[in-house]
Amino acid sequence: MAEIKLSEMRDLTRIERIGAHSHIRGLGLDSALEARSSSEGMVGQTSARKAAGVIVKMVQEGKIAGRAVLLAGQPGTGKTAIAMGMAKSLGQETPFAMLAGSELFSLEMSKTEALMQAFRKSIGVRIKEETEVIEGEVVEIQIDRPAVAGAASKTGKLTLKTTEMETVYDLGAKMIEALGKEKVQSGDVIAIDKESGKITKLGRSFSRSRDYDAMGPQTKFVQCPDGELQKRKEVVHCVTLHEIDVINSRTQGFLALFTGDTGEIRAEVRDQIDTKVAEWREEGKAEIIPGVLFIDEVHMLDIECFSFLNRALENDMAPILVVATNRGITSIRGTNYRSPHGIPIDFLDRLLIISTQPYTWDDIRKILDIRCQEEDVEMSEEAKVFLTKVGEDISLRYAINLITSSALACLKRKGTIVELEDVKRVYELFYDVKRSTQYLMEYQNQYMF
Ligand code: ATP
Repeated sequence: MAEIKLSEMRDLTRIERIGAHSHIRGLGLDSALEARSSSEGMVGQTSARKAAGVIVKMVQEGKIAGRAVLLAGQPGTGKTAIAMGMAKSLGQETPFAMLAGSELFSLEMSKTEALMQAFRKSIGVRIKEETEVIEGEVVEIQIDRPAVAGAASKTGKLTLKTTEMETVYDLGAKMIEALGKEKVQSGDVIAIDKESGKITKLGRSFSRSRDYDAMGPQTKFVQCPDGELQKRKEVVHCVTLHEIDVINSRTQGFLALFTGDTGEIRAEVRDQIDTKVAEWREEGKAEIIPGVLFIDEVHMLDIECFSFLNRALENDMAPILVVATNRGITSIRGTNYRSPHGIPIDFLDRLLIISTQPYTWDDIRKILDIRCQEEDVEMSEEAKVFLTKVGEDISLRYAINLITSSALACLKRKGTIVELEDVKRVYELFYDVKRSTQYLMEYQNQYMF
């Protein structure tokens, strides 16, 4: 399966989607799980962060099977940030996927397929592969197909005495770097000076051995006349189950990973992949990394979605499900029943509930400081005070958005420090919800009868 390089692709999509939370690097807790006032990009919201830390601990001890977390709080109180902090504190490789309840009804696929894809985006697979490593002092190297540095990792052939650890891939890449791609050909022999590291081409003396060819390009052996110098090394790739699904889905192909336009994936494809991954796990070649799946606006889900979630949580590969809402008692979508947070009782039963509180002036100010740093924006004190007021009166998210746009306004007037005038300018230019609805209501009164 073509899983190589996927981790890079995933990073690309991640950066694009979750830029607003790029400053979150964990939950910012100390070893006793107490929340530090400002740490790992996290500020305030101390009891919610502490509770989230306890849940992370339960996950690490394998004690959370079949349960989920509900973050209940007003918009902009850091629910997404906390869910992401949980993923980060479980490890930098932990997959994090997010989905808004309303998205389920707008995608060009069934609700349960969209949920299934979200689940599989938040389940990571760590795949171990063996590669050759040479220990000792490099004297001479022959690369079979050096024109493509990547190919060298599979087909390298070496004659060496070495003291450093280097993979064939590294040596192949070095050779191309030193000599230029055109000058490096299949079957070349080069020498690497042990003192200076200088690379010279010795010629093409090394004849391709028949034995070597017979082993084929996938061989894990490095032929080494000295016989003693070869060593194996493990390399690890991390991908999500969803990425493996897409790559192996004939109708979609891997480009769909970039566009996100994956359509529905057939159940047989997923079954085959699950069987393969189970085999790899048994052989010790792969490990599952349960990630965090964050579903915002959970009150938008209907009974069908909740029953899917109930079932999915029983799976032994299930990620940690964190759902969020800002609703109190409301009706369960598609029914006449009202229930807490619009969630059916059987699903409520599974939930550990954490509530998030509105931020104080100081918290907002600190979050804005962190975001300015993250976006590399220098801002005057006066401008920050104004922005904090905007954050308090309107919304934290709106205030954060104004950082980027006021930095652009500052750049336009060739300034280096964002001043109050820049912030005010974009504040006038981009309306918040309150002002925009007010404007429309006034307009409505004037023209509609
Ligand atoms: P909504 O209900 O509208 O989805 P939310 O409760 O999920 O909102 P976030 O999106 O997490 O709120 O918060 C808004 C912004 O403030 C984000 O950029 C987030 O990273 C940042 N933020 C929120 N809380 C904190 C915090 N405690 N520390 C640092 N940054 C935070």
